[in-house]
Amino acid sequence: MKTFLLFLCLMPGLAWQNARAQDSSASVFCVVPLGVKGGSDESNLSAYLVSAQGSRDFICLDAGTLYAGIRRAVENGVFTDSPDAVLKKYIHAYFISHPHLDHVAGLIMNSPEDAGKNIYGLPFCLDILKSTYFTWKGWANFADEGEAPALGKYHYVRMIPGADTEVPGTPLRVTAFPLSHGSPFQSTAFLVNLRGQYLLYLGDTGADRVEKSDNLHRLWMAVAPLVMQKRLKAIFMEVSFPDEQPEKQLFGHLTPRLAMEEMEDLERISGPGTLKGLSLVITHIKPIGGNEIKIKQQLRSQNNHSLQFIFPEQAVALRF
Ligand SMILES: [Zn+2]
Ligand SMILES: [Zn+2]
Repeated sequence: MKTFLLFLCLMPGLAWQNARAQDSSASVFCVVPLGVKGGSDESNLSAYLVSAQGSRDFICLDAGTLYAGIRRAVENGVFTDSPDAVLKKYIHAYFISHPHLDHVAGLIMNSPEDAGKNIYGLPFCLDILKSTYFTWKGWANFADEGEAPALGKYHYVRMIPGADTEVPGTPLRVTAFPLSHGSPFQSTAFLVNLRGQYLLYLGDTGADRVEKSDNLHRLWMAVAPLVMQKRLKAIFMEVSFPDEQPEKQLFGHLTPRLAMEEMEDLERISGPGTLKGLSLVITHIKPIGGNEIKIKQQLRSQNNHSLQFIFPEQAVALRF
């Protein structure tokens, strides 16, 4: 199995979307999106498997959709095992950005069939999983804290902002950063470290200016040195609405203009020209009306930093 995955990771194929200017030999991360959208279609909501290139030891960043995405990935030839085996054996841990249903529904619904593993998150997020879903009222308590009897399949691991955590069974280390998601509601960004190469995943977030926050500015301060050193391989960032959405009705989300405002801030810290060619993976588009086409056009027309936009597709693996 490892050999086959390695083969897939090294050979451009139908199920692989290549980041431009990064040949496969230079890639370090494999990402398999299990769900990419920000609403409506419950079979395709935020969830991204991340592993070292050539390895089947994944973490799962958010878990809005699990099984439907795994099944499609198997159909696409990304995995040759059964969906059940991928769910139980390939996913070593979940990292949940915030407890909105479009980020946790797949985890909750698949918990009876899943194997035991850790759920990582900031305390606010895990406390809501504990008090709202795994309660016996919302769903059986498959975790190891909360309403008795706690079945103990999942272990909550509370992350400390800015402190990195190793993930047993993988070579990955992950650091959490708080985000503002329609103040006072919170969300989380996860910085994944694989032997000194990095990938940054942002859960749902508003722009600092709109949220009256400095969470994103602090995040950009933390990752700017990695951008300068070309060690940040990709940023996964949400763009939920097109620019026509009034700022008062963003509910803690980004538009293309606001996403580019934030990239402007990052470049102010990391230096002129440092974002050139950086992969910006656009997540969480709300698939209403013609939003998807509009958002793509608006991003491309405001790309003042020569970023490389990537629009992920469910069950089409990416490498960085
Ligand atoms: Zn949300
Ligand atoms: Zn969401």
